[in-house]
Amino acid sequence: MNAAVEQVDAVVVGAGVVGLAVARALGLAGREVMVLEQEAAIGTATSSRNSEVVHVGIYYPTGSLKARLCVAGRDMLYAYCAERGVAHRRCGKLIVANTQSQLAALPAILDKARANGVHDLQLLDRQQALQLEPGLECLGSVYSPSTGIVDSHGLMLSLQGELENAGGMVICHAVVERINATPDGLEVHTADGTRLLARTLINAAGHGACVLAARVQGLDARHVPQAWFAKGSYFTLAGRSPFSRLIYPAPEPDKHLAGLGVHLTIDLGGQAKFGPDVQWVERADDLQVDPARGDAFYAEVRRYWPGLPDGALMPGYAGMRPKINGPHEPAADFVIQGPALHGVPGLVNLFGIESPGLTSCLAIADHVAALA
Ligand SMILES: Cc1cc2nc3c(=O)[nH]c(=O)nc-3n(C[C@H](O)[C@H](O)[C@H](O)COP(=O)(O)OP(=O)(O)OC[C@H]3O[C@@H](n4cnc5c(N)ncnc54)[C@H](O)[C@@H]3O)c2cc1C
Repeated sequence: MNAAVEQVDAVVVGAGVVGLAVARALGLAGREVMVLEQEAAIGTATSSRNSEVVHVGIYYPTGSLKARLCVAGRDMLYAYCAERGVAHRRCGKLIVANTQSQLAALPAILDKARANGVHDLQLLDRQQALQLEPGLECLGSVYSPSTGIVDSHGLMLSLQGELENAGGMVICHAVVERINATPDGLEVHTADGTRLLARTLINAAGHGACVLAARVQGLDARHVPQAWFAKGSYFTLAGRSPFSRLIYPAPEPDKHLAGLGVHLTIDLGGQAKFGPDVQWVERADDLQVDPARGDAFYAEVRRYWPGLPDGALMPGYAGMRPKINGPHEPAADFVIQGPALHGVPGLVNLFGIESPGLTSCLAIADHVAALA
């Protein structure tokens, strides 16, 4: 980009799956859209460092944005992937109980899911679960047939393609440094000195969203939450996956405050991985996997898969949850703030878009487009 001031209808900051989905929705609605991404390519942050699971919407507090946008988003995502040829598979998932307290809590999972609009879960006893997955050890299980996996990069490429067909564009190496709310619109300043004047600005900067919002001149600081970082490391399994469905431990409220427990997911190539664990860290770019964390994985995984051989887990990759709650606080909901809330015309901020943000991206996009 050069130093000239350019007028743009809508600017989206961040080319992760959410920013791209929002940009596509605005583009298809006839808006002129420019996506500004600081990295050299789309989707190099959280959108390529996750479990790639299409969640059905089981656990989130009923009525929360996470619950509503996950349930709506997963249907939209499956339809979208089928229509656009994005690789995905409804492989199903088992939520397994290995203690009496987990077993006693399984019916409540079905109740919560029903309240959220998820009606196809089944309670399985030990034998029924083992019929589906003979390598499993459990006292009982909840089976979710609609949970699946998706090629997140294929999804992002498809969203980008549709955006570009609608006349929009993605500009990489564009670091947005600050934004001024002016009577003429939102003035966007990038690190290379470019200035853009936008009628609408969507802050979909993931880990950078809180920092960027704090740099919006004209936005009251009380609308900007504190950013926290909860790292999740994965360990990959050498050899074939012992299961054809995803395996999740049943929740234990005190233990799984920030994640869903060390679970097994399978990618579309059939590679199994375990994770993510939870490690609160200071920096969003602290993404090295510490091999020593693998020791704790063996014990966790062997509760539901006693057959895990010694030495079978290899350090994989890590993702960083963009949290807006601290370690000892309950998980925050997605926070999506439009002008009606913060009073800055044309500005929409997205904070805390952790899981199930991938699943929900198309529903988040419609929600944001309505606010914009
Ligand atoms: C360990 C882990 C596992 C997960 N598993 C799942 C799952 O199985 N299913 C599911 O539904 N969800 C899952 N999620 C959540 C999902 O990955 C995220 O919700 C989603 O990827 C968020 O997308 P995003 O576009 O908001 O953010 P990001 O992908 O982080 O994109 C934000 C972009 O903004 C750019 N940016 C930041 N600041 C600036 C700036 N100033 N100027 C320009 N560009 C900027 C960044 O470079 C980045 O590309 C998981 C998340 C984690 C961490």
